[in-house]
Amino acid sequence: MSLTYNQEFKDPKISKALVARIREKSTRPLRLMEVCGTHTMAIFRYGIRSVLPDTITLLSGPGCPVCVTAQKDIDAYVMLARRSDVILTTFGDLMKVPGSGASLAAEKAKGADVRMVYSIFDALAIAKENPNREVVFCAVGFETTTPTIAGAVLTAKAQGVDNFSIYSANKLTPPALAALMETDGVEIDGFILPGHVSVITGLDAFAPTFEKYRIPSVVTGFEPVDILKAVLKLVEQNESNAPRLVNAYTRAVADAGNPKARVIMGQVFEKADALWRGIGTIPNSGMVLRESFYKFDAARKFDLSIPDTREPTGCDCGRILMGLKRPDQCRLYKKACTPMHPVGPCMVSSEGACAAFYKYSR
Ligand code: SF4
Repeated sequence: MSLTYNQEFKDPKISKALVARIREKSTRPLRLMEVCGTHTMAIFRYGIRSVLPDTITLLSGPGCPVCVTAQKDIDAYVMLARRSDVILTTFGDLMKVPGSGASLAAEKAKGADVRMVYSIFDALAIAKENPNREVVFCAVGFETTTPTIAGAVLTAKAQGVDNFSIYSANKLTPPALAALMETDGVEIDGFILPGHVSVITGLDAFAPTFEKYRIPSVVTGFEPVDILKAVLKLVEQNESNAPRLVNAYTRAVADAGNPKARVIMGQVFEKADALWRGIGTIPNSGMVLRESFYKFDAARKFDLSIPDTREPTGCDCGRILMGLKRPDQCRLYKKACTPMHPVGPCMVSSEGACAAFYKYSR
């Protein structure tokens, strides 16, 4: 029986053959990093770590949007939630992330008007239904989500929804890879580049980083065959000492990405330095609203003088995001920190490395 196009990417026979090839080709230790939360989950869900040879270590990098959001930004969301004139709207993953003093879930339990939404357009609808309240959307995410956020801001402007604003903690992926390569102690032999992000950015966005650091890099999809193919390509490139930037996800990613989405993003946002959890400030890695959209910028609309922020004591999220530690090397893992009682964002988010490790490593 012949396989359908989709079945091919989940096929056990093809997967086993790829594992065999990887085992045959891999002769020396390699540290390969995925930089996408969906890859992190797929790798754990399909048990890919367990079938690879001991020579290969898979690391989860800064690819989970909630996990990389700086403590300062979480504190800003909490401050906004505490305002009686604000309805704060957010994706569910952010609710339980502990800020320096509280989480959004804790503020909601105390009576704050914090509402979970599935799309920023739900937040815009809430703003229209509540013209006497200010509605703020917690904007986190990478290139995948930023165009939709830009679309909502454009819509708010066109429709005159002036009680709507966003607090942007949106980020760009390529600068984070460059920052990792510049960090002392970080050792990476290959990047599994993010599939969803690349649909927007295209392969070309990663070319400058690749040219500078010459680290084998492969864009791939989210099925087991996709991921194993990427691992094989990274092994082959390392073994032959011939680094390349490869698009192994051609069914979804064009080298030039999605220019229309990038135009919308560029109309509304401009690059700015941004603070990343664990990594620090990375130049030109954030997306902030352009001047013509300042009235939709919650960071400008409200007085948010945030006191000193404090990351959770003992939480190694930052070091995990840089590939310097594994979740089970954090002293709080499975003890003080569990999905029911998360200490840091890597245990909160469904795409976080600690949550994935907890769920699938037992
Ligand atoms: S196990 Fe918990 S405390 Fe440790 S790094 Fe992960 S999120 Fe932070």
